[in-house]
Amino acid sequence: MERLEMALEQSEDGWTRLDEDHEHVSGPAAAEYRRRTAGAAVFLGRTVQAKASVSRLLAQTDTDIHHGEGMTCVYRAETAACRKERLLLGLPAADGPDDSLCRSTCGNLAYTDRDIAEHRTRLPVLLKEAHDPMTPRPRRDRAAAQADRIRSLIEQHETSRPEAVHTNGGQVT
Ligand code: SF4
Repeated sequence: MERLEMALEQSEDGWTRLDEDHEHVSGPAAAEYRRRTAGAAVFLGRTVQAKASVSRLLAQTDTDIHHGEGMTCVYRAETAACRKERLLLGLPAADGPDDSLCRSTCGNLAYTDRDIAEHRTRLPVLLKEAHDPMTPRPRRDRAAAQADRIRSLIEQHETSRPEAVHTNGGQVT
């Protein structure tokens, strides 16, 4: 029941942000993020009357979407880079995301406006570190590389944002 409540809460929050706040989502799994969130929203407000309905409703509302630090994982085992990595390392395949082996090239990644806001906050810190002569060279290089990646994520997010549609006397401008 607790898991169901959590799943419903997350789905409701995700759907409100998409539908009412027009939250933009970018990244390779952006379309899947929208599809799953909209699919789960259909079940919002349902009343559970029987114990047996809990698992059924959970299966229908659990989007398997995981919000992390500056990223969102729209988990799908077949395309999960962390899962592939685990298998390569001879570890048993997990049935969910493995944050410790998360890869920036994974096809399950999506970036919400919230994720991008986190990156915007982090960018100046990284740039400062990258240009600080008192910071050891390897750390400066690492900070510069991370800053480049973040800048590129922000740019891709903004350039993929649908342009606002203005109507003027029935005409779309
Ligand atoms: S690599 Fe990262 S984004 Fe991809 S499935 Fe694993 S945790 Fe999710």
